[in-house]
Amino acid sequence: MQSLKRTKIVDLIHCTEFGSTVNVKGWVRTRRGSKNVNFIALNDGSTIKNVQIVADVEQFDAEMLKQITTGACLSVVGTLVESQGAGQASEIQATAIEVLGTCDADFPMQKKGQTFEYMRTHAHMRLRTNTFGAVFRIRHNMAMAIHRYFHEHGFFYFHTPIITASDAEGAGQMFQVTTQDLNNLPKTEEGQVDYANDFFGKQASLTVSGQLEGELGATALGAIYTFGPTFRAENSNTPRHLAEFWMIEPEVAFNDITDNMDLAEDFIKYCIRWALENCKDDLEFLNNMVDKTLLERLHFVVNNNFLRLTYTEGIEVLQKAIAEGRKFEFPVTWGTDLSSEHERFLVEEHFKCPIILTDYPKEIKAFYMKQNEDGKTVRAMDVLFPQIGEIIGGSEREESYDKLVARIEELHIPMKDMWWYLDTRKFGTCPHSGFGLGFERLILFVTGMQNIRDVIPFPRTPRSAEF
Ligand code: ATP
Ligand code: MN
Repeated sequence: MQSLKRTKIVDLIHCTEFGSTVNVKGWVRTRRGSKNVNFIALNDGSTIKNVQIVADVEQFDAEMLKQITTGACLSVVGTLVESQGAGQASEIQATAIEVLGTCDADFPMQKKGQTFEYMRTHAHMRLRTNTFGAVFRIRHNMAMAIHRYFHEHGFFYFHTPIITASDAEGAGQMFQVTTQDLNNLPKTEEGQVDYANDFFGKQASLTVSGQLEGELGATALGAIYTFGPTFRAENSNTPRHLAEFWMIEPEVAFNDITDNMDLAEDFIKYCIRWALENCKDDLEFLNNMVDKTLLERLHFVVNNNFLRLTYTEGIEVLQKAIAEGRKFEFPVTWGTDLSSEHERFLVEEHFKCPIILTDYPKEIKAFYMKQNEDGKTVRAMDVLFPQIGEIIGGSEREESYDKLVARIEELHIPMKDMWWYLDTRKFGTCPHSGFGLGFERLILFVTGMQNIRDVIPFPRTPRSAEF
């Protein structure tokens, strides 16, 4: 038994070498059967599909068979045979079964049809379910697609720091990093916390975005992307916000806003096409069990152009809808940020396709975005998706040193630690653009899941950091 090499179920289900002896290892999904024969559905995580194990009761020790309960871990040796039953091409006629791990009766993933909310409280064991197996195989595939896309298009994977001492972007929503004794913080003469003797000699935080350093990479290597964790201490308890999430941020020298939109659209379509081609079984499962319109929506996005319009045009559409009787929770006025209900109205009800909104009021966008001639708007772009709302936020960057500094002063942004960022504009500045894609928002879209807590293995949200 030990010398036989284990076959993964993903490889086994396509195998037609009937009569050969195989070894599979995995966890019991179900066991059913009669007095004479047991059918065990075994899953090893390599695919959504189970392999059916057929065990003749009289050939096996009754005590051992009793241990084969949902969740138990088995190693099975047997003969691969053509299946008589419906639903699978092959099955294994067991000759030896070893229980590697019995499963206690209080295994939390035993019952079918448990709510996602319940499963979140057992996030360490929900990985063993069909749905979460599918979600996390797709998540892996999306990460691969992202790296492949950028590699194939001449981008360099650029690692930006996770610990940062600049708070230009994240004022107020950053997690602090310190080694100081919080019960006994040293104070300056003014009564402020004194960071002079802290680990970094100054206040440090977890990054909210790799963009500013990404711009340094782009203005040297030409085209880079980051793909790493980012942290936001915003108290947003929504189905689309995490305190710890992964972000992909391409940044490209010499790209203007139109190039940036083209890149975003091409990139996201590539990722979805990748899922359609490489995650068929998992997508089919999710389409059947979680969201019946999932596949239709994925095909639609791949096959249609994203509509491009300005923020101002978007506001006009919303105000017209309101005039015609459409009700929203939040008011719509030029100059305020769109809320998720507004974004979803535009995408799902009005235009019925993904849209890219551009040229937002400068007051609601970051300081580094390129200012338009009108003095009111900046060359920002948000990609808005059905079910999700904002999936990408980006812009052409302000390349003029003087305009950038003026804006920074206007906004009273603490730039003492950001001299290095301004140097990009001093030493051979150039037009450049980039954007940030929230990885989990992409996974939400591709899987049809409704809550962002269900597309990352171990979600971090306000008041929740279990596992
Ligand atoms: P939102 O308005 O949805 O809060 P944002 O405008 O604050 O997002 P950006 O700073 O533009 O977000 O970040 C770029 C992308 O990162 C967003 O388009 C989104 O996909 C993702 N993102 C932002 N905040 C979060 C979060 N808290 N959790 C998960 N993804 C996020
Ligand atoms: Mn944004």
